[in-house]
Amino acid sequence: MVIRYKNMYLDTENNFFSHDHPTDNQMKVPYNFNLTKVKKYSPYKIKEIGLCVSNCCNFRCNYCIDSVDNSSPAFLSVKQVNIFLDEIFKIWKIRSVAIEPHPLKVYFSGAGEQTFLWDRFKEIVLFILEKSKKHNIPIQFGITTNGYLKQDEIEFLSNNFDYITVSYDGTPQIQNTNRKTSTGNPTSNIVAKTINSLLLSRAKIIIRTTIWPQNFKNIESIISYLYLTFGSNFIWELNPVIPIGRAEQSLTSYTGSYDFAETYSKALMLCKKYGITTNNVFFPTSLNQLSCGAYVKYCQCPWLLPSGEIVSCIESMKYSDKLGYLNDCSVIWNDHINPVLEDSTSNANADCVSCFAYPFCKCGCPARRLEEKNKNSIYWKCEQIKNYVSRIYDDLLAGKQNDFIKLEKVTQGNTCIYKLENII
Ligand code: SF4
Ligand code: SF4
Ligand code: SF4
Repeated sequence: MVIRYKNMYLDTENNFFSHDHPTDNQMKVPYNFNLTKVKKYSPYKIKEIGLCVSNCCNFRCNYCIDSVDNSSPAFLSVKQVNIFLDEIFKIWKIRSVAIEPHPLKVYFSGAGEQTFLWDRFKEIVLFILEKSKKHNIPIQFGITTNGYLKQDEIEFLSNNFDYITVSYDGTPQIQNTNRKTSTGNPTSNIVAKTINSLLLSRAKIIIRTTIWPQNFKNIESIISYLYLTFGSNFIWELNPVIPIGRAEQSLTSYTGSYDFAETYSKALMLCKKYGITTNNVFFPTSLNQLSCGAYVKYCQCPWLLPSGEIVSCIESMKYSDKLGYLNDCSVIWNDHINPVLEDSTSNANADCVSCFAYPFCKCGCPARRLEEKNKNSIYWKCEQIKNYVSRIYDDLLAGKQNDFIKLEKVTQGNTCIYKLENII
């Protein structure tokens, strides 16, 4: 669709700007949104698997999107993991004949702290290691944790894991306000100690910081604190608190400035100064065909939940596509999947295609859209994404460089078009 962006025309499906309205010929490659709906999952595209070992947590973060309170505890068993791995290993071996063999990634995450029941967690990791050795399938482990760990637990992660994401909101005062234990105790000292110990391991360490709008003004002190405490040998992720779960009420009534795009841009500049690498999960930074990797047709990482259900995304179990389930001895892939995520995106597309952020955003996260459809948070997120994308456009149109996107000037007849392209 061709829309106005300031004094230019933007073709949102073909990703180009022009001063004059593009001709039919220039719009010759329309992006025909046709997300083919697949009724049964084909597991032969699996590249990694996810395990949600626990839905319980020893923290009560004041923004927890799942409002975890341990009211219905559920844990994965070794037996369930064994059944799941039998299926995955079978597929992995068939695939390895055609594709260059590489390690199977096994990621632990979910709405809860995966190390909550430490003995069960450890038993599962050791079981996977033993089984993978027997089958000659190398494994890479990854985990997201709140980092409230004892020394022997840190050593276990250090010795066995390749990717470790630790949630930490530093400065200590902010961490201790946001992320208390279930008994109300501060957590900063212990989590900071965990991060420093993990930084000595071979694992890649990601520090994930979540920030309330009230703390946007503290972004500089947060980054300097992280640098002084941990150095720069980690990847940093910054996410805003979003108005769902435990944060819903306070954020819905928040009336101060809430421009995360501004804060994020400032944070990027400061990280460059300190040599800290960043990982952007909130804003789309490249031109995308799809905004979500969890559609049934494309999902490369099925997640096993304690209920025995297998879903395509762990971030939103309720709205995720249900790929299959475990029975007593095997995995059953569902025959008639209700494509919840695909439908969500298809329904949004008619509105989104006329949005100037569409080349990047492609309708955003389909699960959040469903989760938040009756709330204002989806509009807030759109506003932030638009702020962020308009900064990219304005810089590019003013001739400034961007690390991820470039504008290529192409002359067609008497007109110039400026194509947006990813820098690979
Ligand atoms: S550590 Fe994670 S799961 Fe636990 S309360 Fe905090 S945000 Fe929720
Ligand atoms: S549903 Fe949302 S969180 Fe899940 S993979 Fe898709 S975009 Fe990501
Ligand atoms: S910013 Fe909002 S309206 Fe624009 S494409 Fe993304 S989800 Fe759609």
